[in-house]
Amino acid sequence: MYAKIIIDISIESLDHPFTYHIPERLFSKCHPGCKVSIPFGKSDRIINGYIVELAESADIEGVTIKDIADVVVEQSAVENKLIELAAYIKNRYGSTMNAALRTVLPLKRAYKPKEKKTIEAIADKEVLTDAYSQAVRKKQFAKMRLLKELLEESVLDHNLVTGKLNVSAATIRSLQSMGLIRVVSENYFRNPVVCSKSREKDIVLNDVQKSIVDDFVHDLNENISKTYLLHGITGSGKTITYISLIKEVVARGKQVIVLIPEIALTYQTLKRFYHYFGERVSVLNSALSAGEKYDQCERAKRGEIDVIIGPRSALFTPFQNLGLIVIDEEHENTYKSESMPKYHAREVAEKLAELHGASLVLGSATPSVESYYKAKTGLYKLWIMDKRASGLNLAKTTVIDMRRELNDGNKSIFSRRLKDAIRDRLDKDEQVMLFLNRRGYAGFVSCRSCGVVMRCPHCDVSLSEHLSTGKLVCHYCGYEEIRPKLCPKCGSKYLLGFKAGTEQIELETKKLFPDARVSRLDADTTKNKGSLERILDDFSQKKSNILIGTQMIVKGHDFADVTLVGIIAADMSLALNDYRAGERTFQLITQASGRAGRSDKEGETIIQTYQPDHYAIIHAAAQDYEAFYNEEIMYRDLGGYPPIKDIMAVLTTSKNKELAYKTCENMAEYVKKLGLKVEVIGPAKAGIGRISDTYRFLFYIKSDDKEAVIKCKDRLEEGLNTGKDLQVFFDLNPMNPV
Ligand code: ADP
Ligand code: ZN
Ligand code: ZN
Repeated sequence: MYAKIIIDISIESLDHPFTYHIPERLFSKCHPGCKVSIPFGKSDRIINGYIVELAESADIEGVTIKDIADVVVEQSAVENKLIELAAYIKNRYGSTMNAALRTVLPLKRAYKPKEKKTIEAIADKEVLTDAYSQAVRKKQFAKMRLLKELLEESVLDHNLVTGKLNVSAATIRSLQSMGLIRVVSENYFRNPVVCSKSREKDIVLNDVQKSIVDDFVHDLNENISKTYLLHGITGSGKTITYISLIKEVVARGKQVIVLIPEIALTYQTLKRFYHYFGERVSVLNSALSAGEKYDQCERAKRGEIDVIIGPRSALFTPFQNLGLIVIDEEHENTYKSESMPKYHAREVAEKLAELHGASLVLGSATPSVESYYKAKTGLYKLWIMDKRASGLNLAKTTVIDMRRELNDGNKSIFSRRLKDAIRDRLDKDEQVMLFLNRRGYAGFVSCRSCGVVMRCPHCDVSLSEHLSTGKLVCHYCGYEEIRPKLCPKCGSKYLLGFKAGTEQIELETKKLFPDARVSRLDADTTKNKGSLERILDDFSQKKSNILIGTQMIVKGHDFADVTLVGIIAADMSLALNDYRAGERTFQLITQASGRAGRSDKEGETIIQTYQPDHYAIIHAAAQDYEAFYNEEIMYRDLGGYPPIKDIMAVLTTSKNKELAYKTCENMAEYVKKLGLKVEVIGPAKAGIGRISDTYRFLFYIKSDDKEAVIKCKDRLEEGLNTGKDLQVFFDLNPMNPV
């Protein structure tokens, strides 16, 4: 047997597997993920490495293959699994092993545990009373204060004693030496979950929910682990269903990871879980300090936590005995990492579940086409919840053709229908959400006289106008400049912005409804910590009654008085040059309309569009996922897109344009000559050809055989010679245009 081994040092040129022979005595101990010591280089210096793969044959010629020296037994089984997972990530998504290890392993640096100190009386009451009288006689006021307190309460918080009671360290020492008290210090791990039990009434599962739980329990009892896709419309009660599944797994002594998009991880969500799992649930997200994160991993290792909730990275919680992974809103883009390694949490979760023999539950009101395809072809088990738990209907939906509005002379961004509906809700003291699918000023500023477009000097993109600051901003590199009044080229005063951003809608709304209390939620208004929560709080307390926003407002928030959702420009996501555009539009409209009518009041959604005949808009308006999916999968099949085929984007970047292009071209040629069953598309300039003065070229490798795509990437990686002036990135099935 042979092993492919990654060397445990941070030198990129060594970051590819070396083949070693496994001596017979080590046979049983060697497996992917395990740490071994090996002779390396001419001097056969002994260094450490990780096994990433086992193989029957060596697969290389003309070199002598050395033996593995030994297996280094210092890691736990948990770490072994995580390292194996890192190897999987490296292999599948293309990155260095070091980057993959950094992604999966908990912080290496140990943080000092927090200390809690108390002062305890150890003498009995009489002795203390004597000491107290003595202190009174001697007028030792600090001693008096402390002893008096201890006579009432035998254990005191150290901070209280030194703080409020104003007792010095010398006084404490003196009482200690008299044998009256002792100072006890105890280490504890930070627990970021501070909750009171919610007032949630215990819910009795309805028949659909119950049959899902029964199905799951049946599989659990038979030791069958698989992937389930829960397709449940908004309000069908997915969360309570997850909780019921989790309870079953926890009752069997196993742990659970719950992934939710960061933005949906609210205090409300946490409270619901706390209600059922108390101290044994924790969170892991970017709001925690490094120390808090470290402590959650420690608590998990020690078995103090049963359930962890968090975004993507919570997947790497070091649980001993993982039984279930739940991914809520599984269609969300944020599950795909946008930095190297560009892994998809759904796929990595599948691998992790396999390593632990755990189950995986994916849930969504609008499943990703990938997952639904797998459910349809029998790889996943499909569960369906198509009724709201409350028995209420979904919001009524109307599609407005904005071309007709314009024909009828309405130049406003609001259709007449939406305007009337907003007026009506304001009069009834109900609330409105207006949703726009982009932030800031949607687009560019151009001269209507000579046609010049204001562009970023460092990137191949146009600058966006920000009304509140009067600046032109590049969303890619952060470049800013003052918005000129006159055209810098021809001097005309017709330098105008393309108006459709959230800021513009806010202005229009205030103008049309001066009595409304309007607030705006987008990336610009939520830059400061806590501002997101504040805006949402204000809205839930009805301090504002119209909330305007981007994607951020469509997720997870329940506002009982919202009875109208307006989708201002539903087509904006269709304009993108992206095969996922239809899917994204369908998801956004569905999620946004799910916000209307969450309580007993009837809800309405108004969709404004210039493409009322687009299938994504028609099916979203009819709230018909199945019909959308059937049309979408046909289109994916025709175009050869995922999930029918796999696509690997290979991006080359350099400040040197020639070098970037040549490298890209050479790699594309190389792949063509490999003779594998793949298609090569490109090379071409990337969607954005230049960012921060760095040039970007790309080509695609496409095939219905995923392994062939991965093999191409492996072969390219072997020959890579990247460094500071040239970089190559791989992106398997990109979520966003590269
Ligand atoms: P989803 O996540 O599918 O949008 P939630 O889990 O938030 O839905 O549930 C929507 C609402 O329905 C919640 O207020 C929840 O308490 C309620 N609910 C869910 N299941 C039941 C049930 N079986 N009986 C009564 N109310 C339920
Ligand atoms: Zn001009
Ligand atoms: Zn720029």
